[in-house]
Amino acid sequence: MESLDELYKEVILDHYQNPRNRGQLPDAQIATRGYNPLCGDELELFVDVNGEVVDAVMFSGRGCSISQASASMMTESLQGRSLAEAEKLVSAFKAMMMAEGDTGRLEALEAPEDLEALQGVKRYPVRVKCALLPWNTFVEAVELLRSRKSKVES
Ligand code: ZN
Repeated sequence: MESLDELYKEVILDHYQNPRNRGQLPDAQIATRGYNPLCGDELELFVDVNGEVVDAVMFSGRGCSISQASASMMTESLQGRSLAEAEKLVSAFKAMMMAEGDTGRLEALEAPEDLEALQGVKRYPVRVKCALLPWNTFVEAVELLRSRKSKVES
């Protein structure tokens, strides 16, 4: 029988080799860049929001398998959710990466199970930054979107 570790590795490798939603969205409402100097991961994130719904999330850039797999999983997890729900999911993911085995909040949000594979990274604290890079970049995108909206409205 495969160990959980091996299963996690396979899931991460699958997302790395067959990334979901990889590419550019030239007309995206928001494009943000993320950089993880510890590893050299570079990420560009494209986000389209329709009303309050995250319509599309795509990413490009280059980096290690963890950062790329995490970005691929994130795009799958966030598309189609409301902004509020997407933010909850981001914080639930971060909680899982910070606290041992805390997947309850992700499950409550019906997040894809693939995300749990990134838990294995917690044993390598430096790599946690790789896994968090796409998520932190998404948070910046949402902040940018909100600040633009408040400018339009004021
Ligand atoms: Zn990395």
